[in-house]
Amino acid sequence: MAFQFICSICHQKYDPASLVWRCSCGGVLDVAPFPVHFSLETTQKRFAGLWRYREALPFDSSFTDWQQITMGEGSTPLLAAGAALPSVFLKVEYLMPTSSYKDRGAVVLMAKARELGVRRVVCDSSGNAGVALAAYATRAGIDCEVYVPASASAKKLKQMAEHGATVHSIQGTREDAAKAAIAVVEQENLFYASHIYNPFFFQGTKTYAFEIWEQFEGRVPDLLVVPVGNGTLVLGPYYGFQDLLAAGLIKTMPRILAVQAENCAPLARAFREGAEVAQPVVNEGTIAEGIAIAAPARNRQILAAIRESQGAIITVAEADIVAAHRELARSGLYVEPTAAVAYAGLSTYLRQADDPELSIRREPFRQGTQTAVVALTGSGLKASPESILTRPCDHDN
Ligand SMILES: *Cc1c(COP(=O)(O)O)cnc(C)c1O
Ligand SMILES: [Zn+2]
Repeated sequence: MAFQFICSICHQKYDPASLVWRCSCGGVLDVAPFPVHFSLETTQKRFAGLWRYREALPFDSSFTDWQQITMGEGSTPLLAAGAALPSVFLKVEYLMPTSSYKDRGAVVLMAKARELGVRRVVCDSSGNAGVALAAYATRAGIDCEVYVPASASAKKLKQMAEHGATVHSIQGTREDAAKAAIAVVEQENLFYASHIYNPFFFQGTKTYAFEIWEQFEGRVPDLLVVPVGNGTLVLGPYYGFQDLLAAGLIKTMPRILAVQAENCAPLARAFREGAEVAQPVVNEGTIAEGIAIAAPARNRQILAAIRESQGAIITVAEADIVAAHRELARSGLYVEPTAAVAYAGLSTYLRQADDPELSIRREPFRQGTQTAVVALTGSGLKASPESILTRPCDHDN
């Protein structure tokens, strides 16, 4: 079966082997819908990891190279959040081979690049995506170049380089790093292994939905709380729940509560204003560097997915991110500041739920009877030490 790209705007189809990364109309590309197969009986007999859902991934059954590329990513723990947050569960996504949930997307994207016979890829990242792509590229025998803003965590840059990637550190913003990557991709007609534009990445992050469904024994929670910048953990799971709906395995999709840092929140603003498209903002600086995305390319899709799920996009203040980070650390969970955003978002949301002005949905989340899953997306060990230790203190002043 040939998997195709389809433009999200004009529905033009493309062959992924053509190295196209965006439609000629400017629209972002998706993987055209394909039939997926599920059986809990089959998957539960398999080894842990996201390849247990391989019949729902965009590969022919004859493709077996993933067996050399996988590092066992996926099947992350689901922990009860504790007595203060009854029926809230934490999905510990930083327990991954490269310590962030980006491994889900990176392994599928690099396996696809390998299947297409690609030898060299270019990508850009604020950190974790670059690390994950570098690691899976080397396993797939593919040369990887990563464009990063010079401000990215030194530990992440070092890890990319040690995995054998060529790291181009760009003076300027996250957007400048993306522009530099795209310029090379266009000039040299290279494979753009972007976790934002390349839709195969989202085919990997959709396994987040499958796992939750499996961990809830064939059900889904009421609320999914995720951080959002470029939307890989909004759109991926959204596609995953759509697959489960299409297969008749669930009846409703969970509401998706996506959380942005107040200082860089183009999606939350568009959501509040009822807009279909998010206007770019100026990043005013946030310790949640992993989601500081001023102009998310898939903004239209993210807004539509959130609305379809009856969810919401909210913001959290810097002090709330710091407090959430500290609370998680005190409970033994060591995440990077960006990964504390969803947890901070749930508290903010519960505080706001009774306020009709702020209330985002008709039906509030009923703590204790309804279930929520909060993503802990990245490990604190990879973050810049100053982003955890110094900057939060500045904000406390
Ligand atoms: C990438 C990332 C996110 C958010 O991902 P987007 O695709 O930009 O929405 C959240 N947390 C961590 C730790 C990340 O690395
Ligand atoms: Zn198009």
